[in-house]
Amino acid sequence: MWTAALLRRAAQARFFGRSLGSDGPVVEDPGVETDTQFTIEIDQITKRYGDNLALDAVSFSLPPGVFGLLGPNGAGKSTLIKSLMGLVRITSGEARVLGLDSRRDFRQVRQLVGYMPEDDCIYPGLKGVESVAFAGELSGLPPVDALRRAHEVLDYVGLGEARYREVQTYSTGMRQKQKLAQAIVHDPRIVLLDEPTSGLDPLGRKRMLKLIRGLYDRTGTSVILSTHILHDVEQICDSVVIVGHGKLLVQDTIANLRRPADETVKVGLEQPDPAFGAALTEAGLRWEEPQPGEIRVFGDSDTIAAAAMDAARKTGALLRRIESGRNSLEEIFLKAVEKQN
Ligand code: ADP
Repeated sequence: MWTAALLRRAAQARFFGRSLGSDGPVVEDPGVETDTQFTIEIDQITKRYGDNLALDAVSFSLPPGVFGLLGPNGAGKSTLIKSLMGLVRITSGEARVLGLDSRRDFRQVRQLVGYMPEDDCIYPGLKGVESVAFAGELSGLPPVDALRRAHEVLDYVGLGEARYREVQTYSTGMRQKQKLAQAIVHDPRIVLLDEPTSGLDPLGRKRMLKLIRGLYDRTGTSVILSTHILHDVEQICDSVVIVGHGKLLVQDTIANLRRPADETVKVGLEQPDPAFGAALTEAGLRWEEPQPGEIRVFGDSDTIAAAAMDAARKTGALLRRIESGRNSLEEIFLKAVEKQN
């Protein structure tokens, strides 16, 4: 039966039409107006735990999108995420989420942000749907809406059939999906995900990444993915933020970072062969050999591919591969972190 409060709420509700799919949720506007082009603005945040400096004057702003938050253990990633949620008290500086102050406006921030912690956060004794609905109520949804949304998001993450099972009987993969469902039950505009693919097998990981990317592609929910798995970031993120020892090291799009300063092509040989290099030089190409048999040739890819084939024919060297010289995310990450140490 409709209560007066529900009828009032229904009358006030403006539907966004933010649907996750034909059978996915369509969600009401939480009623918070924001006027910033950035989802997240971090200005000179410092966080000390006693003598331990976890974040050291970190500043960056993120537009809507899917971002990877990377850094070695202890770099400050979790502290950064918790600062955004108002879960830890920042020592100095400011964190704004959709224009709202993470400390002063923390209640509104929690309505707009979904958080999937790395640790288990399921509620033992509850069934899947009850646990998600409870998370919805904690994020400010009225009980009826929370239950309706719980069913919708469990369908989205693929736990529809297990919704009436007690959560402590779930496998690792199911628990990760359950945590994602709990993080998105209130239709947040931003989700902060801490190691969401941890413990998943390759198929489970692939599915989880698709669900995460789908949040932005289908509903425009921005994603900040904190992980150690660089491959996951390469798969679904547009940009990265790399932190180390509490400092911001890199913030850029992956496309920009992968583009080397000079156009290069990597040529791999079965075994090192000085005659091959000499033939490249003879063809007028500049090259270097960072590792034996791994040659980086400067110039445009078509010229180099033809010259490498020609050099191989002349010298009898066996080519293993010719590939684009773009930096891998692993190289970018290691370079940023090693430079700091
Ligand atoms: P990450 O998530 O990148 O592994 P954290 O944000 O968890 O990094 O930790 C950053 C630093 O702050 C580390 O040196 C860690 O030991 C310290 N730290 C984190 N939480 C606490 C805490 N509650 N009390 C004291 N030190 C902490």
